[in-house]
Amino acid sequence: MTDTLDTTTPSTTSTPVAQERRIVTAVPGPRSQAIHARRTAVVSDGVTSVLPVYIERAHGGIVVDVDGNQFIDLGAGIGVTTIGHTEESVVDAIRQQAGDVLHTLFTITPYEEYVRVAELLAEHTPGDFAKKSVLVNSGAEAVENGVKIARKYTGRRAIAVLDHGYHGRTNLTMAMNYKAAPYATGYGPFAGDVYHAPNSYPYHDGLTGEQAAARTIAYLEKRIGAVDLACLVVEPIQGEGGFVVPAEGFLPALQDWCTANGVVFIADEIQSGMARTGAYFASEHLGLVPDLVLSAKGIAGGLPLAAVTGRAEIMDASQPGGLGGTFGGNPVACAASVAVFDAIERRSLLGEATRIGNTLTAALNGLAEKYDIIGEVRGIGAMIAIELVQPGTGSTTKEPNAAAVNAIAAAAAQQGVLVLTAGTYGNVLRFLPSLAVTDELLADAIEVIDQAFAAL
Ligand SMILES: *Cc1c(COP(=O)(O)O)cnc(C)c1O
Repeated sequence: MTDTLDTTTPSTTSTPVAQERRIVTAVPGPRSQAIHARRTAVVSDGVTSVLPVYIERAHGGIVVDVDGNQFIDLGAGIGVTTIGHTEESVVDAIRQQAGDVLHTLFTITPYEEYVRVAELLAEHTPGDFAKKSVLVNSGAEAVENGVKIARKYTGRRAIAVLDHGYHGRTNLTMAMNYKAAPYATGYGPFAGDVYHAPNSYPYHDGLTGEQAAARTIAYLEKRIGAVDLACLVVEPIQGEGGFVVPAEGFLPALQDWCTANGVVFIADEIQSGMARTGAYFASEHLGLVPDLVLSAKGIAGGLPLAAVTGRAEIMDASQPGGLGGTFGGNPVACAASVAVFDAIERRSLLGEATRIGNTLTAALNGLAEKYDIIGEVRGIGAMIAIELVQPGTGSTTKEPNAAAVNAIAAAAAQQGVLVLTAGTYGNVLRFLPSLAVTDELLADAIEVIDQAFAAL
């Protein structure tokens, strides 16, 4: 049974947030514009904002800006507020923990919440073997640690990633991303020994999983050589790359090859994990049991927390003191994460992700019938995207249509629907709502997007 979320009067915030779209000023409104003017004086231009409306409150599937405009949030802070904005039990857990202890540093005097998060990760990541974790602050830091741990365990130097992948903005992860602009342009020199292997992108390459895997494995063997390869880092469903779901069998074949060759298989589930796809981790849908799983984004309901979780013998290869950091596994973030795991069970959120996937897929397939620039509808659970192509190229060259994506996202924002873009060519609209979003809100948002397509 689904324990329905009280979507109107959160116990823990002062003003209720009605779960409805409401636009009362221009977007952005005068108050947002005033803050934006102050921001441009003091915040680096290197930090951008998709939509410069300044948010004052949020609950469930709605964010409210300082001018009183209410947006249906189909981005959830890029898959962070997966269980809903200001979820009551998470906010309560944060308040409680904040009053008890804010920080000691786990590597000085530890606390139970860190251990509890590691237990929950061991329980809910794929695989029946003994698992251990290290907690850190951000997704990129989890990737860095995953690579570090794999190198230590294998004693090998090289790391491999897949084309169209995204792994972060630190020095190592910049080298691991497919896209240079804007993430890496001008920031080099970059970390060495990072190799980019072909991915599986069924809409474009037309290959079966078996064919695509053969191509990737040939690259790994010829270009690197298994004896020098510490790990292969893959996103089960590529996030920034445009929610690319690989052909069936592609990733299991790569995992088998890794296992046979002593290469650590690392699943970057930072965007696809934590109930987003209707399973705790997307690996489960694809038949993967990674050696290491990286989680972040949705893991703590909006607080900064990330983890590397995996086979105990790999995690224990590091010397004492080799892993950790000042803020890693902060007690408040851990308390929030424990509440997130609890809410996923209590509110049957895996089922909610599946519901959202069904609703979105049906609605977007409906739009694809009407608008021929929608080349493909794809994704799993509450991680669905449409790839837009130039008119008339959908069954031939599939030319990317970033202009249409930008126009639709901008038009939707004006009407109170916040939808994110993605894709190496910027031609993907991605739907990454919180699992608290109702079918009514989704229908309303799709109606707005339908009108935006019609107006193109
Ligand atoms: C967001 C993301 C990262 C980086 O996480 P940060 O917390 O922004 O450092 C890494 N991998 C994937 C798949 C992501 O979506």
